[in-house]
Amino acid sequence: MIVLLGKTEEEMIEFAKELGEAPFRGKQLYQAIYGRRVLEFSQMTEFSRALRQKLGEIACVTLTEIEKVFYSSDGTRRYLLKLRDGREAEAVFMPEDRRDTICLSCQVGCAVGCKFCMTAQLGVKRNMTAGEIISQVIIVLNEVHGVGAQPPHGTNLVFMGMGESFLNYVEVLKSIRIMAEEKGLGISVKRVTVSTSGIVPRIYDLAKESVRPHLAISLCATTEEQRTDLMPINRKYSLEELIKACRAYPLGDRERLTFEYVMLDDINDSDEDARRLVKLLDGIRAKVNLIPHNPAPELPYAASPMERILSFQKVLVDKNVAAFIRRPRGQDISAACGQLAARHQAQG
Ligand code: SF4
Repeated sequence: MIVLLGKTEEEMIEFAKELGEAPFRGKQLYQAIYGRRVLEFSQMTEFSRALRQKLGEIACVTLTEIEKVFYSSDGTRRYLLKLRDGREAEAVFMPEDRRDTICLSCQVGCAVGCKFCMTAQLGVKRNMTAGEIISQVIIVLNEVHGVGAQPPHGTNLVFMGMGESFLNYVEVLKSIRIMAEEKGLGISVKRVTVSTSGIVPRIYDLAKESVRPHLAISLCATTEEQRTDLMPINRKYSLEELIKACRAYPLGDRERLTFEYVMLDDINDSDEDARRLVKLLDGIRAKVNLIPHNPAPELPYAASPMERILSFQKVLVDKNVAAFIRRPRGQDISAACGQLAARHQAQG
């Protein structure tokens, strides 16, 4: 079965030609799938019944299906999705006043093993394809707004769900390029954030890309020892190398690097940690997101008390480092940061 989602317009045109159809049929497919978010050939009424049948015999738009949607009291929705091989992935929709955000997965599970993250407990099963990554966006937008309906305000995409974006670099970047196409989904790269735990060589690669999303670094520690304890990836790519790559990263006008910092009680949340963080980021145009930890029985850490987070933030702000406290979203449906673990899978 040929899966069309994830193909570029050129690839759709090629597909139409292989089918013995005129090239413009490929353009029409592209327009229906990305422009109008139509996932069923039966709803593509621009095609004859015979062509719709022919398409249905050899191809489909996507094999990703919604398994379950969890609705939070704060408006957040968590989507448990079944992929073509039966594996599960998760996406999260977070409504905001001015703009909605969709948090995307890029791998089934994750190999990085951050000690504060539920996804790490799954290990990595496989990379997701560009088409599977995009299917999350289309499925969420269609479920929230209806097929083809334009969201009332813009959509931000953040690659902060399951998986390490830079261990699936090629497919993640391909999905972003396709989603940014004006005549398709039209989600500008300026609205896309890719997060990494610190896969240093890929930071240098991203710096050279012509289509470049916003970059976020999951930092979470201020010494080599502390970071290796929390994020074993630090053994391979040290904090020193990571900060060096960040310093070399080219930023556009008004662009800043985002540093994510999960606040763990008595582990990385002292004023001294905050002062070290100020020093580490010295000279980097940065903003820091302080993320309240979401404890789980499987994880060894407690959440920092809010007074501690506020005190940490004050140290940063007093030294002119922009620092924001991330508002936890969807905690009642296990959709908050670090909670995604396809719990369904764990139970099954
Ligand atoms: S925090 Fe991100 S990189 Fe670390 S284990 Fe979880 S999903 Fe992987």
